[in-house]
Amino acid sequence: MKRICFFPGTFDPVTYGHIDIIERASNLFDEVIVGVYDGKEKSCLFNIDERIDMIENAVQSLKTVIVKRYRNLTAIEAIMNGAGWIVRGLRIGIDFEYERGMAMVNRTISNRVETICLMSRLEYQILSSSRTKEIAKLGGNIDQFVTNYVKNRLIKKIA
Ligand code: ADP
Repeated sequence: MKRICFFPGTFDPVTYGHIDIIERASNLFDEVIVGVYDGKEKSCLFNIDERIDMIENAVQSLKTVIVKRYRNLTAIEAIMNGAGWIVRGLRIGIDFEYERGMAMVNRTISNRVETICLMSRLEYQILSSSRTKEIAKLGGNIDQFVTNYVKNRLIKKIA
């Protein structure tokens, strides 16, 4: 049977930290479904189509990666897509308690899906979408954080 994982998030916008997790998950699983959460539109800088487009652009060389929007409970959406695993990225300090709580919530919702956390690479430990947006707004260089495609969209959006 195909081993499918579900990587959920807001991706506003996708960063090299997310891309690294997607690449590593694609080495572990037959298929990776990147689930873009479509429920916080108001607090996002980019709309759902823009967020999906930027991820698709970043993962086009990874043939086993699918990008799709969702509005459901994450655990339910994972199961509906045939995924037995939810993948999350862990940065130093900030993510652990939150992810542990989420893993327990997801476990309560269904024991058919297991959460797997991949440690963020050293160079991406302090990288987040919100920090990237802040730096871009202040005119800083974001080349180390996002692809050129995302950078250009971010600059346009902010202008
Ligand atoms: P959410 O709102 O669900 O936290 P995000 O788009 O911020 O959505 O993050 C999606 C996932 O990617 C989360 O598991 C988060 O911990 C992970 N992630 C975000 N930034 C990084 C990074 N720099 N390195 C590794 N994982 C990351």
